[in-house]
Amino acid sequence: MKDLTILGCTGSIGANGLDVVNRHPEHFRVRYLAARRNLETLLEQARRFRPAAVAVLQEDPGETADWRARFEALGAEFLTGEAGIEELAGRDDVDVVVNAIVGVRPTLAALQAGKVVALANKETLVTAGELVARAALAHGGKIIPIDSEHSAVWQCLEGESLSAVESIILTASGGPFRDRPKGDMHNATVAQALKHPNWSMGRKITIDSATLMNKGLEVIEACWLFHVPVQRIRVLIHPQSIIHSMVEFVDGSIKAQLGLPDMRLPIQYALAYPRRLANTLPRLDFSRWSSLTFQEPDLDKFSCLRLAYQAITDGGTAPTVLNAANEEAVLAFLDERLKFGDIAQMVDGALQRHHHHREVELESVMAADRWARNFVHEELERHGMGIAAA
Ligand code: MG
Repeated sequence: MKDLTILGCTGSIGANGLDVVNRHPEHFRVRYLAARRNLETLLEQARRFRPAAVAVLQEDPGETADWRARFEALGAEFLTGEAGIEELAGRDDVDVVVNAIVGVRPTLAALQAGKVVALANKETLVTAGELVARAALAHGGKIIPIDSEHSAVWQCLEGESLSAVESIILTASGGPFRDRPKGDMHNATVAQALKHPNWSMGRKITIDSATLMNKGLEVIEACWLFHVPVQRIRVLIHPQSIIHSMVEFVDGSIKAQLGLPDMRLPIQYALAYPRRLANTLPRLDFSRWSSLTFQEPDLDKFSCLRLAYQAITDGGTAPTVLNAANEEAVLAFLDERLKFGDIAQMVDGALQRHHHHREVELESVMAADRWARNFVHEELERHGMGIAAA
């Protein structure tokens, strides 16, 4: 039996994680739950899973006393704010902390407590990979990836030595604009960009899949997770999303992990690691998938992917800036304050203007993050929509 903390329990990863718990009550028990602000869903989940404590990111969720009473009636302590989330993340009486909530601090808190972190929030490693790797090393914490690609690589590397790895091949569906000409993408609408062909995910990550920034963030994440230099991490478009990623070894042999695109599989693997648990999830039927296809990504068309390679090559706080500028640009696009094609322009502008810090400490990371967000806000104010054309 493993005791779990789930940070970000009301989002898509959290809901899938709770589904996995539900399917394996003999293996997993929920001890702590944390959400950003969806208190209604959190309350429902608390009723169902009876955690010892819950936390919400909002400092003052409104009618705080009422909410506190409602959770306490279920036997759950009620914490608020970033400090509350961080405190839950660092509590000692759990085996695995599932982290699907934004922010670097909860991941650091869990690693500093020597916990196993099942990490779904890729921004943590992108923004502060060096810090996170250091914290894990210093306190005996461990990160197990939940992202489907990294879970695939993790599974391919089981029993292998890193020195035998020639390259890591991350697959990408190519998103909704895979076959669209570059010139056609600039003015793509929010509805078009949200139409992901294979995966059902949150809005921000779905836009990142349309720009391929998601894959860029995953390249950076892979560098830190697997300690492989960026030159040895490749991206391959694979529209069917059946091969979740591959590892090529020095003898030319390639291992791949396949499965239906269902997040419950990598989540279950991370929670149960190193065991594999039998389940009743839908199975891959090869008679329905007679052809799997591949193509190289066009870095000119998907310039966000190119920028991500550039940022991790530059190192220091460049990936922090890439991530923060992208987050703000995507929010502006979702609010229809920025054109699709200008997301990459914004990120490029931020990377060019930022003075990278070589020294990566929490303060320099936070400062670079704030700087990049401000940069995007100022650019939006100056130009409004259509900055690239201006
Ligand atoms: Mg992924």
